[in-house]
Amino acid sequence: MAKYLVIIDKNKCINCGSCAMNAPEVFTLSPNGHSTIRKEYRQNPQNELEGVIPEELLEKVKIAANNCMGSAITIKKIV
Ligand code: SF4
Repeated sequence: MAKYLVIIDKNKCINCGSCAMNAPEVFTLSPNGHSTIRKEYRQNPQNELEGVIPEELLEKVKIAANNCMGSAITIKKIV
Protein backbone atom coordinates (compact mmCIF):
# COMPACT_ATOMS: atom_id res chain seq x y z
CA MET A 1 0.00 0.00 0.00
CA ALA A 2 1.31 3.40 -0.92
CA LYS A 3 1.90 6.07 1.68
CA TYR A 4 1.73 9.80 1.26
CA LEU A 5 3.56 12.70 2.79
CA VAL A 6 1.28 15.56 3.81
CA ILE A 7 2.79 18.99 4.44
CA ILE A 8 1.05 22.08 5.77
CA ASP A 9 2.58 25.43 4.89
CA LYS A 10 2.01 27.43 8.05
CA ASN A 11 2.72 30.68 6.20
CA LYS A 12 -0.15 30.05 3.78
CA CYS A 13 -2.64 28.70 6.31
CA ILE A 14 -5.40 31.21 6.99
CA ASN A 15 -6.82 29.25 9.94
CA CYS A 16 -10.14 28.57 8.24
CA GLY A 17 -10.61 25.09 9.71
CA SER A 18 -11.83 23.56 6.47
CA CYS A 19 -9.21 20.79 6.45
CA ALA A 20 -10.16 19.70 9.96
CA MET A 21 -13.77 19.43 8.80
CA ASN A 22 -13.00 17.56 5.57
CA ALA A 23 -10.39 15.15 7.00
CA PRO A 24 -10.67 15.21 10.79
CA GLU A 25 -8.75 11.92 11.01
CA VAL A 26 -5.60 13.74 9.87
CA PHE A 27 -5.98 17.48 10.54
CA THR A 28 -6.80 19.33 13.71
CA LEU A 29 -6.47 22.96 14.69
CA SER A 30 -3.85 24.03 17.21
CA PRO A 31 -4.80 26.28 20.12
CA ASN A 32 -3.43 29.12 17.97
CA GLY A 33 -5.92 28.28 15.24
CA HIS A 34 -3.60 27.00 12.53
CA SER A 35 -3.88 23.57 11.01
CA THR A 36 -1.74 20.72 12.32
CA ILE A 37 -1.30 17.02 11.58
CA ARG A 38 -2.68 14.77 14.29
CA LYS A 39 0.03 13.12 16.39
CA GLU A 40 -0.68 9.61 15.14
CA TYR A 41 0.29 10.59 11.60
CA ARG A 42 3.36 12.74 12.35
CA GLN A 43 6.78 11.42 11.41
CA ASN A 44 8.41 13.54 14.08
CA PRO A 45 6.16 14.20 17.08
CA GLN A 46 7.67 17.69 17.36
CA ASN A 47 6.82 18.60 13.76
CA GLU A 48 3.11 19.24 13.68
CA LEU A 49 3.18 20.34 10.04
CA GLU A 50 4.26 17.08 8.37
CA GLY A 51 2.77 13.62 8.43
CA VAL A 52 2.51 10.34 6.59
CA ILE A 53 -0.90 8.92 5.76
CA PRO A 54 -2.00 5.55 4.42
CA GLU A 55 -3.71 5.27 1.05
CA GLU A 56 -7.14 4.79 2.60
CA LEU A 57 -7.08 8.38 3.84
CA LEU A 58 -5.83 9.84 0.57
CA GLU A 59 -9.20 10.77 -0.90
CA LYS A 60 -10.26 12.67 2.22
CA VAL A 61 -6.93 14.48 2.41
CA LYS A 62 -7.17 15.36 -1.29
CA ILE A 63 -10.59 16.88 -0.66
CA ALA A 64 -9.11 18.83 2.24
CA ALA A 65 -6.23 20.04 0.05
CA ASN A 66 -8.50 20.97 -2.85
CA ASN A 67 -10.74 22.98 -0.54
CA CYS A 68 -7.92 24.69 1.31
CA MET A 69 -8.40 28.40 0.58
CA GLY A 70 -4.77 29.12 1.37
CA SER A 71 -3.45 26.35 -0.93
CA ALA A 72 -1.43 25.38 2.12
CA ILE A 73 -1.61 21.58 1.89
CA THR A 74 0.79 19.55 -0.25
CA ILE A 75 0.52 15.79 -0.81
CA LYS A 76 3.40 13.68 -2.17
CA LYS A 77 3.48 9.95 -2.82
CA ILE A 78 6.46 8.46 -0.97
CA VAL A 79 6.19 4.68 -1.39
S1 SF4 B 1 -7.92 24.39 5.01
FE1 SF4 B 1 -5.91 25.29 4.57
S2 SF4 B 1 -6.06 27.42 5.23
FE2 SF4 B 1 -7.75 26.30 6.20
S3 SF4 B 1 -6.94 25.66 8.23
FE3 SF4 B 1 -6.55 23.98 6.77
S4 SF4 B 1 -4.44 24.34 5.99
FE4 SF4 B 1 -5.19 26.25 6.94
